Amino acid sequence: MTHTFPTPDLNGRTALVTGGGSGIGRACALALAEAGAFVHVVDRDAASAEAVAEAAGGRAQPADLADPDAIGRLPAEADILVNNAGLQHVAPLTEFPPERFELIQKVMVTAPFLLMRRTLPHMYERGWGRIVNVSSVHGLRASAYKAAYVAAKHALEGLSKVAAIEGAPHGVTSNCVNPGYVRTPLVENQVRDQAAAHGISEDDVLTDVMLARSPVKRLLEAEEVAAAVLWLCGPHSGCLTGTSLPLDGGWTAG
Ligand code: NAD
Repeated sequence: MTHTFPTPDLNGRTALVTGGGSGIGRACALALAEAGAFVHVVDRDAASAEAVAEAAGGRAQPADLADPDAIGRLPAEADILVNNAGLQHVAPLTEFPPERFELIQKVMVTAPFLLMRRTLPHMYERGWGRIVNVSSVHGLRASAYKAAYVAAKHALEGLSKVAAIEGAPHGVTSNCVNPGYVRTPLVENQVRDQAAAHGISEDDVLTDVMLARSPVKRLLEAEEVAAAVLWLCGPHSGCLTGTSLPLDGGWTAG
């Protein structure tokens, strides 16, 4: 008997990727489109959403995910939902601005919840669906100065598991991917912020702070995360649900 492991054929599927204008979301949108899916590229930054949608042959959906009304205007007919949009704020707990904490929960927890609530009826109707939540190593581990982000990613882990349990009878899976540091604008900004917080150079932030707990001493590329997301949307992943896939260079093994 021969076994083949083809690239998923996503022709006829529609995907909605949040934060699709940049970094990991952009790589996911392009990978899903290349596999045949029609991709809605959701981003607050309309110009980058347009650029990625054009490259993916999909549709730009400019929207601020902190605004529930804007989420209510996004397409509900998605077979694949990639909850990826995110932002970071680095500050000690004692100085953490409450409004930044709240914004991060809105974009990284409430928006994924509202989008699941919105798209699951369509997935249930078709008897097939894939939810992939771009969590982080910080959905499994904590770091100093990242109260809002760590809290949001841990919440996303719980939300993903509930979707897995509720979606299972309807052919819908829900999983998290958990990258360590990926070479994207978000990380480039963090290197700058961490250098200021620790009072050290940006080079030292990379080797001594960010990758200190990672046995693999390199940043991940966005395309490596997209490949895992694509695999979770493929034909061999129907029994894989409620999981968290660390792409963390061995960080959580320690
Ligand atoms: P990025 O900054 O390159 O892209 C994030 C995108 O989200 C941007 O296009 C931004 O405009 C969009 N966005 C932010 N707030 C939004 C809002 N309110 N409404 C709509 N769109 C909004 O970031 P990235 O590094 O590609 O991160 C993507 C996801 O991956 C995030 O959830 C992040 O937490 C996660 N992640 C990143 C890394 C990393 O090292 N880069 C590691 C682990 C997890």
